[in-house]
Amino acid sequence: KVRVRFAPSPTGGLHLGGVRTVLFNYLFAKKHKGDFILRIEDTDQTRYVDGAEQYIIDCLKWCGITPDESPVVGGQYAPYRQSERKPIYREYAEKLVAQGYAYYAFDTAEELDAKRKEVPNFQYGLATREGLRNSLTLPLHETEKLLREGVRHVIRIKMPDDETVSFNDMIRGHVSFDTNQVDDKVLLKADGMPTYHLAVVVDDYLMKISHAFRGEEWLPSAPVHILLWEYLGWKADMPEWAHLPLILKPDGHGKLSKRDGARLGFPVYAMNWLDAKTGELTPGFRELGFLPEAFLNLLAMLGWNDGTDQEIFSLDEMIEKFSIDRISKAGAKFDFEKAKWYNAEWIKRTDAESLKLKVWEILKAKGVVIKDEAYLLKVIDVVKERCVLLPDFYQQAGYFFQQPAEYDLNAVKPKWTDAKTDFFNAFITILSAEPVDVHELETKFKALAEEKGLKPGDVMLPFRIMLVGGKFGPHVFDIAKLLGESETIIRIEKAVE
Ligand code: GLU
Repeated sequence: KVRVRFAPSPTGGLHLGGVRTVLFNYLFAKKHKGDFILRIEDTDQTRYVDGAEQYIIDCLKWCGITPDESPVVGGQYAPYRQSERKPIYREYAEKLVAQGYAYYAFDTAEELDAKRKEVPNFQYGLATREGLRNSLTLPLHETEKLLREGVRHVIRIKMPDDETVSFNDMIRGHVSFDTNQVDDKVLLKADGMPTYHLAVVVDDYLMKISHAFRGEEWLPSAPVHILLWEYLGWKADMPEWAHLPLILKPDGHGKLSKRDGARLGFPVYAMNWLDAKTGELTPGFRELGFLPEAFLNLLAMLGWNDGTDQEIFSLDEMIEKFSIDRISKAGAKFDFEKAKWYNAEWIKRTDAESLKLKVWEILKAKGVVIKDEAYLLKVIDVVKERCVLLPDFYQQAGYFFQQPAEYDLNAVKPKWTDAKTDFFNAFITILSAEPVDVHELETKFKALAEEKGLKPGDVMLPFRIMLVGGKFGPHVFDIAKLLGESETIIRIEKAVE
């Protein structure tokens, strides 16, 4: 059975690359009727950040992605939070030591620091083990004594000398590593907590993970993981790996980092992230006014396509069309303008009913009072194709509920004439007479303009500004029709005075 996992470390907000990892795991699982598991990798207590786990859970919820197993819903392989699995890992680390695949290292932080100063590009491994205090170099009785005395120590993997570790990545094909280049990573820390490397292998095994999609930044760790699978005797059950291409800065120069957002003026997090320690708020796509459908769609297209020109996909459609061979090896440049385009497309395609609550919230926050839901739905339908981000609904829809707070007078004042005043007074009379439909209204408006010796264009813009306050909004007669005759009259009168 296909079982995949998203295994974030709760160290802060979720970068869009993280959500893309979620998405690809999820698409693959659902395409193959498998399970998507959320596992929280919180063994690094020094990087643990309060609230980050909840944030991740909320993010998935916003995106409409529901894990089949997670710390929230539980599951057959619970617990799904590594800190709660702490007792599980030591046994495996000790087993590796007993078999000679790992060793105890007693070096203190100060000793290691001194080494780092002494040896350029220091790595704990083949070239340096000798001069350090570990069970490979110390005589057996010495190691036993240190262990007996309870001296703080870690367990490190012993990278083999002169070997090549290789595997077949589902995206990148054959990948191989020279073991001499890889350091002896810590597996179990002095506090008894496993490191990521040990925990990820043990848990992927125990949780029967079949495929693992993760960011390319984890590729250098792959040889350590593969050796662990082998040393623990689990090689036959190792998941198939897929290392996803990086998401690059807009100019293609390097990975889009968490810090780039502020510098380049767009969000890189899924949702707002408030750093409790510094009080710093990192903006997110959700709060900026992205629809989750658009967010997922644009993320999928960073590195994947279905082989056609199609760019707009719903989640269901992505599940149906997803295939690994259409994921590119090359990094994908992030383009914020394009991201907004996806959002505009999704707003356009989403029906008013589904947008209703979000728009309502935006208008309410601006003090707009909505009494008639059916009217709101009509307004949404008329203006949605003009909105790129959800907050645009305020400018585009607010005037349907309240008179414009400001008028773009510069656009009309300089060319104002008595003939125009005359025209609008006459137009009010037409409006008051009997209800007219949109087309009739337009015909009558134009006929009246000619009668008054004006070009319809001369009065069209002023009419719009009277109704909405500025040079925006849908077809002006559609606006008038939705506002209704009496409100239209009120606004013209207010302006003509
Ligand atoms: N805990 C790792 C992270 O924070 C997971 C990497 C993996 O998927 O193996 O991204």
